[in-house]
Amino acid sequence: MTLHRREFLKSTALLGAAAGACLGGCAAAKAGAPAAAAPRYDTSALGERIRAAGEKTGLAITSVETYTGGANLSFARVTADDGSEGWGQLSPFDADVSATILHRKIAPHVLGRDPADFEAIADRCIEANYKYPWSFVCRALCGVDTALWDLLARRAGKSVCALLGGAPRPIPVYGSSMSRTISPRDEGARMAALRDSAGFRAFKVRVGKVNGHDEDERPGRTEALIPEVRRAVGDGTGLLADGNSCYTPRRAIEVGRLLEAHGGIHFEEPCPYWELEWTAEVAAALAVPIAGGEQDNDLAQWRRMLALHAVDIAQPDVCYVGGLTRALRVAMLAADAGKLCVPHSANLSWVTVFTLHLAGVIPNAGPFVEFTIEDNAWTRNLYRPALAVENGCVAIPEGPGWGVTLDPAWLAAAARRESVRQ
Ligand SMILES: [Mg+2]
Repeated sequence: MTLHRREFLKSTALLGAAAGACLGGCAAAKAGAPAAAAPRYDTSALGERIRAAGEKTGLAITSVETYTGGANLSFARVTADDGSEGWGQLSPFDADVSATILHRKIAPHVLGRDPADFEAIADRCIEANYKYPWSFVCRALCGVDTALWDLLARRAGKSVCALLGGAPRPIPVYGSSMSRTISPRDEGARMAALRDSAGFRAFKVRVGKVNGHDEDERPGRTEALIPEVRRAVGDGTGLLADGNSCYTPRRAIEVGRLLEAHGGIHFEEPCPYWELEWTAEVAAALAVPIAGGEQDNDLAQWRRMLALHAVDIAQPDVCYVGGLTRALRVAMLAADAGKLCVPHSANLSWVTVFTLHLAGVIPNAGPFVEFTIEDNAWTRNLYRPALAVENGCVAIPEGPGWGVTLDPAWLAAAARRESVRQ
C-alpha cells in the first residue's frame, strides 16, 4: 500500500508541530517537485561564526595526549604554549587503534599549529594520509578536532554551541533501539514505557539484518515489528526504521511501504550504503524520507549522495567523519541541497554531546537528535553531567567547551600516551 503524499505530510506535520520542526521540506522535495525547488537553508550566519572561530589566536599547540580505556574509548587532550587546553574524543570502537593512528599519522600535522587552524589541520591530515583514506584517519582526527573546538570555546568562556551562535537549550531526541534480538512485543512494550516515563515522542526500530542481502534477522520479524511498535506507542509518536544496509531496492521499497502504511517518518540506510544508485531508486519510489550517511566520511561522496537525491536526511557521524569541523561541512552541504541533517549518534559517549551542540547551531537540524535507549556499561558514569532525557528532550551541556568532564577514576585508569612539539 502506498501512502498518499497528503496523508504523509499530515503525519509528519503532526510530529513537526510536536517537535518544533518540520519534515515537510523533505516530502515536498520528493513528491515530484523539481529538485532545484527544494528550499535551501541559510548557512551564512553559521559560516561567519565558523570563520570567526578560525581567527588566529597566536598560540601554538605543544602537546597532544590520548587516554585510552579498552577498545571502545579514547579521549584526547590538546595543550597550547600558554597552557590552554581542550578535550575531545577519538571515534569510539577500536579506539585503541585510532589512538595509535593519531600519534603516528595525525599529531605531526597538529603540533606547532595555531589551535584556530582547525580547518587547515583537518584538510592537511586527510591529504597527508591520502594513501590511507578515511576511516581510521578520520576516527583519529576527530580526537584532535573536537579537542580544538573545546579549547577555543573555553578560551572564549562559552560552550561550543554558543561559540557558533547557538543557545544551549533542551533538544528533542528520538529513542534509538540498537537491538534486533528483542521480540516485537518486547520492543513495543519498552518503547511505550519510555514514552510514558521520559516523554520520548519518537522511536527508531531495527528492520532486516545488518548487511542482510534481503534476509530478516528472523523470518517475518520486520512485518511483525512495525505494526506492533506502532500499536504500542500510538499514532502520536514518530516511528523511524533503520535497515543497516540490508536490502536490494525491490525489498527496500516493500519495507518502506510497510513503514509508510504505519506512519513512518524516516527510513534509514535501506540499501548497502555504498550503493548510492540503489538508495536513490528507493528514495524516488517512496514518500517516507530516506536517511543515510553515517559511515560516509568522504566529502566528495557526500556531494554525490546529495546530488543523486539518494538521501533526504543527511546523517554524518561527528566521530566517524573526522570531528565537528567536517560534520559542519556535511551539514552545510545538506543545507545547500535543501536537506535536513540528523547526525548519527548511537551511543552515550561524547558523540552524543558533540551532536547536541551541532544540532543546536545548524539551520537544517531535524526534529530530533538520536539518543540510544540501550544501557551500555562502557559509557556508564563516563562523564559529568550525564545526559538525561526529560519531557523527550536532552539539554545541550551549557558549561564552557563541550560542557562535560570525564570521570577522574576512568581517566586515572586509562593508558596515557603523548606526542610533543620537538
Ligand atoms: Mg543507522
